[in-house]
Amino acid sequence: MSEKTIFEKILQGEIPCKPVYEDEYTFAFNDINPQAPVHILIIPKKKIVNVAESNETDIEQMGRVLYTAKKVAELTGIAKTGYRLVMNNGDHGGQTVYYMHCHVLGGRSLAWPPG
Ligand code: ADP
Repeated sequence: MSEKTIFEKILQGEIPCKPVYEDEYTFAFNDINPQAPVHILIIPKKKIVNVAESNETDIEQMGRVLYTAKKVAELTGIAKTGYRLVMNNGDHGGQTVYYMHCHVLGGRSLAWPPG
């Protein structure tokens, strides 16, 4: 069994976080190193490593992550002005935590393209 990622430890209450939203399928909390006035991470409660390693049995969880993004955007007041959802996948994608997570970024106008 591989070592727990930091997000499994957060989900299991072993390390603290600032929760934003939770339901049966997903958990959302503030990013510890925010890149925008609102920067929230959403994880599925059932572990998926990333998009590349997902399979058909993960489809429900992955859809729930996106739907939670909509709720989190409404809860934090960024729904009207707009926001960005990011999922970094693998080394070149900049993924550092190998537990699928969706970044919700908002509260300012975001540049494109990313670095
Ligand atoms: P990157 O680190 O390049 O953003 P990821 O997409 O894998 O790569 O994102 C991991 C995110 O997890 C980072 O934004 C980081 O700030 C955040 N993070 C790391 N540790 C914690 C923690 N203990 N609590 C909340 N967020 C965390």
